[in-house]
Amino acid sequence: MPSIADNLAQIEQALRKETRLVAVTKTKPTTLLMEAYEAGARLFGENKVQEMVAKYEELPKDIEWHMIGHLQTNKVKYMAPFVSLVHSVDSFKLLKEINKEARKNDRIIDCLLQIYIAREETKFGLSEDEALALITSPELATLANVRIAGLMGMASNTDDQEAVRSEFRGLKSTFEAFKNHENAQVTMRELSMGMSGDYLIAMEEGSTLVRVGSAIFGSR
Ligand SMILES: *Cc1c(COP(=O)(O)O)cnc(C)c1O
Repeated sequence: MPSIADNLAQIEQALRKETRLVAVTKTKPTTLLMEAYEAGARLFGENKVQEMVAKYEELPKDIEWHMIGHLQTNKVKYMAPFVSLVHSVDSFKLLKEINKEARKNDRIIDCLLQIYIAREETKFGLSEDEALALITSPELATLANVRIAGLMGMASNTDDQEAVRSEFRGLKSTFEAFKNHENAQVTMRELSMGMSGDYLIAMEEGSTLVRVGSAIFGSR
């Protein structure tokens, strides 16, 4: 069986330099996270706040913690002191809460807007129009402790690679279109798309961050 280090090396080798790897460590014990760390991984993605906080406290402090899961506003305060990028902002209300907790910690927190691109009903996210309304809203300028750094999306869970590719391509074109609305607070520099089953397609379609779990750590 290939080791975590083998898996990481293989994925890193396949990625372009413009595409960084977020190792998705949810449900995995810290011994395995340390194995990935020893092999050079520094960007870790978690989808539950409490689990991320517990791992943050135990592990080396040069790890960048990425929140990739759906967030409840009442949990934001626990991660605000250290989270490095929130991939999964899907409402103005959540963004306001992140701003409030970032301010308490004297930080500016980078956030991505999660855009709904899949055909399935179950995926969270904003429509392109809702995201556009958010980044062009005058109220956004009042939230001085958050920045919008790009977009995130999850493709349909399907074997139809062309369908997946076209969903990623659509998100990339939204990302490019939103560059017309950049300002001090909104920049389109990170495009988070691609998981274990589709990160190569996502990379080909312009992803800057792939979120890969099971292809590194085995199935959950
Ligand atoms: C779990 C998860 C991933 C990683 O999924 P794998 O298929 O294990 O690579 C990526 N993104 C999000 C939002 C996730 O919840």
